Amino acid sequence: MPIDATQPYDDGNIFARILRNEIPSSRVYEDEWAVAFHDIAPVAPQHILVIPRGAYVSWDDFTARGSDAEIAGFVRAVGHVAREAGLVAPGYRLLVNIGGDAGQEVPHLHVHIFGGRPLGPMLA
Ligand code: C5P
Repeated sequence: MPIDATQPYDDGNIFARILRNEIPSSRVYEDEWAVAFHDIAPVAPQHILVIPRGAYVSWDDFTARGSDAEIAGFVRAVGHVAREAGLVAPGYRLLVNIGGDAGQEVPHLHVHIFGGRPLGPMLA
């Protein structure tokens, strides 16, 4: 069920619980600003999610309320994770779903990193 990106942050969402280590995840990277882990249902050979440590529902929430330091740190972390995964030379794709029409399912901002095969044309 897609979320409403204008909803208040729910501290019990699954990615909040992953951040607090209450449920396991396959982490590939973490720093002051971000945590990255393998998507539980990958749709590409490399499918990694990068999430900010801060409590942000969506990209909209993050870019409206996040500090410059958080935003810079998070964006740098996304680039770092893709680089460390060896995806720069072959190429990769970033995707962020925001709210209902985009099909965002988890109400904590996450950037998808897809790679490891030719990804085909964009769907939208
Ligand atoms: O962008 P969207 O909200 O649709 O993506 C949610 C993603 O979170 C899905 O790709 C899903 O497989 C992933 N997920 C996960 N671990 C969970 C729950 C969801 O990797 N425990």
